Amino acid sequence: MHSNTVFYTITIGLLFAGLVIAQPQPQRQPLPFVQPPGASQPDAPGQRNAAPLAQLELKPAIAEVKKVEYASNGFIEVAHALLLVPKREAALARNLVLAQEAVKRSFAARPGLNEVDVSLYLSEDFDGFGGALPLLTASVPKLEFASFEKLQTATVSGYMRIWLHQVGNSSPQPKPDKTLEQNPTFYGSKQELKAQQVQQLSAQLAGRVRGGLMFQGNPRLPTAALSFDDAPHPLYEPLLLDTLKRVGIKATFFCIGRNAKAYPYFVKDMVEAGHEIGNHTYHHIRLPRLPTSVVTDELEQTNQVLTGITGQPVRYFRPPGGDYSRATLRIASKLGLTTTFWTDDPADFDNPGTLKIESRLVRKLRYGGIVLLHDNVLQTIQVLPEFLKVAQAKGIKLWTVGMLDTNR
Ligand SMILES: [Zn+2]
Repeated sequence: MHSNTVFYTITIGLLFAGLVIAQPQPQRQPLPFVQPPGASQPDAPGQRNAAPLAQLELKPAIAEVKKVEYASNGFIEVAHALLLVPKREAALARNLVLAQEAVKRSFAARPGLNEVDVSLYLSEDFDGFGGALPLLTASVPKLEFASFEKLQTATVSGYMRIWLHQVGNSSPQPKPDKTLEQNPTFYGSKQELKAQQVQQLSAQLAGRVRGGLMFQGNPRLPTAALSFDDAPHPLYEPLLLDTLKRVGIKATFFCIGRNAKAYPYFVKDMVEAGHEIGNHTYHHIRLPRLPTSVVTDELEQTNQVLTGITGQPVRYFRPPGGDYSRATLRIASKLGLTTTFWTDDPADFDNPGTLKIESRLVRKLRYGGIVLLHDNVLQTIQVLPEFLKVAQAKGIKLWTVGMLDTNR
């Protein structure tokens, strides 16, 4: 070949390569990679606490009411009253009157409230939200206040948004694991981890359920799933459900069995609104190091509670913290559950601020994606309408995990 020809060939080749490189590439964040325990986690939470919610002052105050917090989703306002009653004084009739008074005085203190929720615990047992179960919970939308106020012990079951727990019936509860979902973390031998990483890659590329696992839906279709972990929570659930209703989106709620048991009416609300219910274990504990029987109990008990409330079988499961093993997958599959991970985790539990949550959500939104959020983060609830507008503008329809699974 003549040296000039070589020169031109190389130059044209380089130019062509330059053009190819200069082509704008679609912005795509890497999918989460299955990692061994203890690996570094770039999105790991900094455990930044949420700003404290505003509190109501009841007049006159009620000694058993420890606090009444309230918050808004920009459309409605909901309050939650926390009551602690000493064991020697706890009796249904008295608990009911206390709850009624707390609700009444909350509505009086802030007439604009749309709903007041109540959680009444034994003071000796109380160990925060994930600890021992409350004795009584209720959800009182303003329109139902009149019927709630009239309730007496004999008629209490006539009100659909109250839950009672028998005193002395509670077995000791394992401490919930407060660490939230970060990266899917596989517990197993080196060889098992390698095999799992290969399987994940194939599941991610094909976007199907592989080996009982789903990482994402079909990456060629303009649909993505919206999922909320750790549900239900008083105060947050009515706000979140109201927001989703306003924007016309259906989502999947991965419920903690314990929370669903104590607040069953919120799970009913979800199903009635067309949302999907998934399993997130009974006590929100990390599963890989637990004996098989305990893991089975965690999943089975949750399925029973959820199906008892909704009348529907549970199809999807998300392991707390994203931690799993071969055994976890096997047990979930046996119980008819598809283990479901995610493509997008904006780490909303770290309360990074609405702008940051929104930009992370928008940046990572993709065809076939599964967005992981938490139901009890006010900032998440507040950014949802904007995020959903962006999804619409990108032509991506956000819906349930089940829709993504069947939409192939
Ligand atoms: Zn969780």
